[in-house]
Amino acid sequence: MTSKNKVNSTARLIEVFSAIQGEGLNVGTRQIFIRFAFCDLRCYFCDSAHTWNAPPSCQIESSPGLRDFEVHPNPVESSTLLAWIARQNLPFVHDSISLTGGEPLLHAQFLAEFLPAVRSLTSLPIYLETGGHRPESLAIILPYLDSVGMDLKLPSVSGETYWPEHTKFLQLCSNSKLEVFVKIIVSQSTVVQELERAALLVAQVSEDIPVFLQPVTPLAVASLAAQEFSSVVMVAPTPDQVLEWQVLMKRFVKQVRVIPQTHKMLHQM
Ligand code: SF4
Repeated sequence: MTSKNKVNSTARLIEVFSAIQGEGLNVGTRQIFIRFAFCDLRCYFCDSAHTWNAPPSCQIESSPGLRDFEVHPNPVESSTLLAWIARQNLPFVHDSISLTGGEPLLHAQFLAEFLPAVRSLTSLPIYLETGGHRPESLAIILPYLDSVGMDLKLPSVSGETYWPEHTKFLQLCSNSKLEVFVKIIVSQSTVVQELERAALLVAQVSEDIPVFLQPVTPLAVASLAAQEFSSVVMVAPTPDQVLEWQVLMKRFVKQVRVIPQTHKMLHQM
């Protein structure tokens, strides 16, 4: 590693592994996933509730895709994480690096130091998966990102409400000309007026931002921890609901695609 790449701040991680992305614009591409610990939201449908708190150790895959995990103590120095990414980054395997969680933007200061180094090391594009409610933290790392998948939280489905933050967040992405899309989890209890408001919110920033409606997946709905936290039962929407909602939203934005979590079908977890 060159002295240029030598960085020393730390972050708490859940895992690092290689898999096929199952959601959004990057669906089907191969990514190195860095899953960060901590989330400040408590979505009813959360399938990553194990990230809400930081474990004393994290799981690091040794060989891309083989799930031959090593266990390392938290927190992790950025120079150590760089070495793990270098080990994963075999030729012709990966399309990009995915920052996921939890909420990666809770580690914005760490990322501001880590991302320029990992880009110079791998030349891989950087993709951020986020709850889209922390525009101030996004601004810190925006120059180092290539694409962003922003969850837009519908109160009736997630139990979380962040309309003004989502607008500011999308505007920042749009201004910086990076690739951005919006993901909205929908269930049988989705309120139509909220979907209309979401479509308007996106359209007011740009009608060209793609929107992905993602039905709560019947394969594995909420994790046990999320089920304990919430008494709301998530049921996948009916085909008629999904068709109606897609048409409704297309009155405001150009692209509305309906895609379930495909990585669960491919066992890429
Ligand atoms: S779904 Fe994402 S944003 Fe919501 S609680 Fe789970 S990890 Fe946090």
